[in-house]
Amino acid sequence: MKIIFLLSAILLIWWILKTLRRNRMTDAEPRIRNMLPCDYCGLHVPEDEAVQHQGRSYCCREHAERNQP
Ligand SMILES: [Zn+2]
Repeated sequence: MKIIFLLSAILLIWWILKTLRRNRMTDAEPRIRNMLPCDYCGLHVPEDEAVQHQGRSYCCREHAERNQP
């Protein structure tokens, strides 16, 4: 009967360690950034790297200028 108690104690410690490690890994992961498609070529670029022009988003300044009417 003693061995069962010991085994469950080990399992509990192992489970706690596993949970703690997983939480730490989640914190280290980079945040998923919002992706915007280029209005000219359709390439998806992160929102903070996209070129905003006249309410539209582009992958680069060149495409923003090329998409002029
Ligand atoms: Zn583009």
